[in-house]
Amino acid sequence: MFKSAMFKLTISYLAVLVVISIFFSLQIFLVASRELHRSFNKPALLQELRQEFPADITPGDLLPGQKRPALDALLAERIRDGRRQLGFNLLYLNLAVLLAGGAASYWLARWTLRPIELSHEAQSRFAADASHELRTPLTAMRTETEVALRDPRLHLEQAKKQLKSNLQELDKLTGLTDGLLRLARIDTEQMHLEPVVLNDVLATALGRVKSAAQQKGIQIESPSQGGEKIMADQAALVELFVLLLENAIKYSPQKSQVRIVQKNRDAHVTVSILDQGPGIPKDQQKNIFMRFYRADVSRNKKIPGYGLGLAIAKSIADAHDATLSLESGSGVGSTFMVTFSKRRSD
Ligand code: ADP
Repeated sequence: MFKSAMFKLTISYLAVLVVISIFFSLQIFLVASRELHRSFNKPALLQELRQEFPADITPGDLLPGQKRPALDALLAERIRDGRRQLGFNLLYLNLAVLLAGGAASYWLARWTLRPIELSHEAQSRFAADASHELRTPLTAMRTETEVALRDPRLHLEQAKKQLKSNLQELDKLTGLTDGLLRLARIDTEQMHLEPVVLNDVLATALGRVKSAAQQKGIQIESPSQGGEKIMADQAALVELFVLLLENAIKYSPQKSQVRIVQKNRDAHVTVSILDQGPGIPKDQQKNIFMRFYRADVSRNKKIPGYGLGLAIAKSIADAHDATLSLESGSGVGSTFMVTFSKRRSD
């Protein structure tokens, strides 16, 4: 698909280039022809030609068979020669434009289509990953249900157990589809930016994760009242901090501490969420914001999740021109930082 699009685009660029080149060549040819006429009719040149071919030359002075060249004919011939030469030069120039333009058009077409190709590749990879994630629990549910149905001695208790397990899988699937839907919407959704107080956003996010933190006996230390105002979509920003806080709680040990720190620096304000969890090894950090990526720690410890939370958080940060970054290492806890530009609240 991309090859044929690239071919069409190359041809289109080249056609435009050739039309422009031919148009300017014709203009040059017309102007240069006019100039040729004018320069050959200059009195000094006419004088020079008259001396070269005097008008009073007699037939006796000519060699046998030689005719006295008429000045007009001579001028016309010189102009014709000049135009022919010019025509050839312009033709060579156009051929050179065609060759160099062909290469340049191909390069330009590649350069134009590259971002579309990359985004298409990412989209296909995303669809493949999503299908895989959806397929695994569906296949498990189907197999278990089939086995249960085939069992003639299936008790009510066993059937209930089976239905319970199916319900758990369905809950996971709902979580996954919600995440997928959210990711798809963020890219197209229009953010409603308005001045918001960061501390209010953090307080709302804290309220949403309070019970999860309490269940694990985790204490969350948050900044005091006051705080910066930035231009943001309040609901989206709350979602971003909820995702980061949920992760901090999910991956931290029982009875540990999570801290929220706000720092103002010149034109920027940074909100950091620090936890005392297992941390993320350096070599895994570059992939951490990719869709469906899960670091070894969560896979090994079988902590539930689909690797979509940080990808959603990153998309929300991007939509606010904010940066989401991570400082961590194996066994040293994690610090996720969101840096906003204060200029946006002007
Ligand atoms: P999920 O938590 O559903 O796996 P995320 O996109 O939120 O997906 O996170 C991606 C991965 O990053 C997680 O699987 C986990 O390995 C790692 N991670 C995220 N936050 C933390 C954290 N606070 N501490 C340790 N690891 C984390």
